Amino acid sequence: MSSIRVRFAPSPTGYLHLGNLRTALFNDLFARHEGGKMILRIEDTDTVRSKREYGEAIQRDLESLGIRFDEGPYYQSERISIYEEHLRQLEKKGNVYLCYCTQDELEARRREALAMKRPPRYDNRCRTLTDEERRRRIAQGVRPTLRFKVEATEPILVEDVIRGEIKFDPQEIGDFVIMRSDPDHSNRFLPTFHMSVCVDDGLMKITHVIRGEDHLSNSPRHVLLFRALGFPIPQFAHLSLIHGPGGEPLSKRYGDVSLSDFIENKGYIPEAIRNYLALLGWSPKDNREIFSMTELEQSFDLRNATHHAAIFTEQKLTWINSEHLKMLSEADYLKRAFFFLERRGIGVRKEPKMREALAILKSDIHRFDELPDALSFFDEEAYRNRLKRSVAAGDQDQVYVILTEGRSVLEAAQEAVQQSSSEGETLFLELTETLKHRVSEKGKKLFLPLRAALTGEPHGIELKRIFQLLDRQTILGRIGKAQEFVTSK
Ligand code: GLU
Repeated sequence: MSSIRVRFAPSPTGYLHLGNLRTALFNDLFARHEGGKMILRIEDTDTVRSKREYGEAIQRDLESLGIRFDEGPYYQSERISIYEEHLRQLEKKGNVYLCYCTQDELEARRREALAMKRPPRYDNRCRTLTDEERRRRIAQGVRPTLRFKVEATEPILVEDVIRGEIKFDPQEIGDFVIMRSDPDHSNRFLPTFHMSVCVDDGLMKITHVIRGEDHLSNSPRHVLLFRALGFPIPQFAHLSLIHGPGGEPLSKRYGDVSLSDFIENKGYIPEAIRNYLALLGWSPKDNREIFSMTELEQSFDLRNATHHAAIFTEQKLTWINSEHLKMLSEADYLKRAFFFLERRGIGVRKEPKMREALAILKSDIHRFDELPDALSFFDEEAYRNRLKRSVAAGDQDQVYVILTEGRSVLEAAQEAVQQSSSEGETLFLELTETLKHRVSEKGKKLFLPLRAALTGEPHGIELKRIFQLLDRQTILGRIGKAQEFVTSK
């Protein structure tokens, strides 16, 4: 049994964004690959911004991506007395002191330091606060924080699986706040992120802290706290940030896009999202790009995680999604496609040929949200309305222009279909063969009028597919209808 234990520790102050999901996935994959355990810890000590429903949404998102946890969820808000207990240990050892600096004072000093090009660290002034000054502050109603004394003189080493050993200068780290006055209880302190993370990682025997690069600068503080609390120091792995296609922070573009939006509205499947997230900041040895769930677990190696920022593009995700759609069994694909369409209020089961149509589209579409358009030609009423609109718009409309320019093609096609008794793909092949001899048009000029007449659209699924999905009568009827519409103007 492996002793490896990792945790995913989101703050429930909003929905998980792609970066957090990637962190969760890397923890999951590492745990599975190593035969270790994954823990879910909800970091909800910020009572103002945390919401229980976000914690629940986070769990739903993890589940829909197939990310499993072996322990938890632990809610930090239910563990306050544990942090208080550990605070007492630190107090006993003389590691902490009360600080009465106000937020405004700290901010003014920070700005001054930056203006003078000094590191904006806390100047530790409350370490030596006189009793008189303290009394004055209390009388003013200032509520104190508790700061951890940074007394290290040697460089602080952070061992990072991805980045190697990183040295931090303790001179640049001022004494930091580990507990704040509880806004609701005057005599109580609540832990800051540094305190609750280190106590929990220690007590939960976390061996590897895998998190975003934005936490790298917190790690030397955490090393000091782990030491002071008497816990072993875990291995760190700081994952490179994910940027948008233009190099901008991903949160700018996708900050408020939730996982369910990707799945329910855009029609991506979880396997593809999982696959793509795994590639954001990890390069498989053989540069392979498509992985099933189990293949990912088998191949994942944290040591091959990349240092440089990963670039997320929806184009790539769309391609990966189309590859995963092809990998689904037909039954599984149909189930999901029906589910997607029905959630959109498209009652597809009624249409007898719909199963066949969906099956045919399996290898053509990239995402489920392409289905409504790809299938719209089935609907007779939508088809007629489309033609009506294009006739009304006349020369301004691409379909109208295609149909009028293609009149001779349509006439010949009508005759050829009438003379044939075939259906489906055979009818299509026969028709193209006959038209070759009967009309002078070729390529686009030949196929576009047929497509426009049969679907009312200039683009869409392959023409051959349309012949597979509409019966002879409908095909004949539509070619006739299209001719009628353009000549009626
Ligand atoms: N709660 C922190 C966050 O959401 C993560 C802390 C950690 O992974 O150490 O950014």
